[in-house]
Amino acid sequence: MTAKAMEIIHKVKGFSDIFPPRSETYTRLEEAARQIFSRYGFGELRLPLLEKTELFARSIGDETDIVQKEMYSFQDRKGRSLTLRPEATAGVARAYIENKIYAGQEVSKLYTLGPMFRYERPQKGRQRQFHQINAEILGSAAPEADAELLLMLTSFLKNIGLKALVLDLNSLGCSKCRPVFIEAVDAFLRSEERAGFCPDCQQRSQTNPLRTYDCKVDRCRENMKGAPRITDYICLDCRDHFQVVKDLLDRSGVEYRINPNLVRGLDYYQRTTFEVISRDIGSQSAVAGGGRYDGLLKDLGGPDLPGIGFACGLERLVMLLGENEPAGCDFFVAVLVPEAKETGLLLACELREQGLCGETGFEVKSLKSQLRLANKHLARKCLILGQEEMAGSTVLAKDMQTGEQHEVAREKALSIFDGL
Ligand SMILES: [Zn+2]
Ligand SMILES: [Zn+2]
Repeated sequence: MTAKAMEIIHKVKGFSDIFPPRSETYTRLEEAARQIFSRYGFGELRLPLLEKTELFARSIGDETDIVQKEMYSFQDRKGRSLTLRPEATAGVARAYIENKIYAGQEVSKLYTLGPMFRYERPQKGRQRQFHQINAEILGSAAPEADAELLLMLTSFLKNIGLKALVLDLNSLGCSKCRPVFIEAVDAFLRSEERAGFCPDCQQRSQTNPLRTYDCKVDRCRENMKGAPRITDYICLDCRDHFQVVKDLLDRSGVEYRINPNLVRGLDYYQRTTFEVISRDIGSQSAVAGGGRYDGLLKDLGGPDLPGIGFACGLERLVMLLGENEPAGCDFFVAVLVPEAKETGLLLACELREQGLCGETGFEVKSLKSQLRLANKHLARKCLILGQEEMAGSTVLAKDMQTGEQHEVAREKALSIFDGL
């Protein structure tokens, strides 16, 4: 191969090809989401993957890591800055406002599935293109909406097979009470020796002090142990709101823990914020997260309507759940003579029309190599078409487990699968 051709067949850094059986796990998770979300009255919103860079800068926040370092942005042919979506909420909000969805319905429940893009250094479990399931409730400020969304999320995660789940919960207050808290955080950060924090936190303490709660650096975490807790500062309305959410979770038997350090990396969150952590396979990892973003639509120039949503990363789930066991198939049609080729293919298609899964080999081969193929496909029955079967309009059905075989009239082939 020439050097040029070698280059063409190299995928772009940080992107991946997902083949079966791995892709089947993705499909299974997406199907479970569609099924469960629709029970809760959610409809699918199919969004563009590309938006104006400005949208993300405005909604996610100029000072966030995503906007500062991780956006997959480029200029189009007319020099406009476009960005492959790093998350879904901004696009959902944009579409909701632009199409005036709020005019037709008081509360909108929408979900999206698909790829997201972040220009990070690729590492294990973190690619530049990754996949998310997102759900948003727009137009309701009621704590019941928060609770319903959380119940749907936990139902989904349990349904797909995650067991050791922990729901971390916090309230970030509202536009009334949060400024008071931020002042307290400011005072705290000034009183602590700033030099004791990592350079990122020193920067954050100027631009968005809440972010210091997020820092993963050990000495920052140690410093933040004495920091003010948002739950001591939230106003009465926020307190009541949070209480209803907690009560509903209690009554539904969903376990949670209050985590006052949970601030999330995006600017638009207020009141209820959450993260679901899985302790399957020993280590702790966040599989989903989200929160309420009551000011976002207005900030983007839309109506002053509230919203809440979550994002759930598929790569993490696939990692935790492992790949699907290969399902195998019902039959393999083995063609032993050239005159059986067409008959074999048509027989396979007829059985598929009846709802069975199966394979044909396309080529004429010896019985031995056909049986090897049937095994490779994990077929339960091998349907053999040789000279005799062609002459008698029959098919020889071999049970791949027991080795038993019997001949059946070809038009009765479906009866072979009775009791399967
Ligand atoms: Zn408040
Ligand atoms: Zn830090």
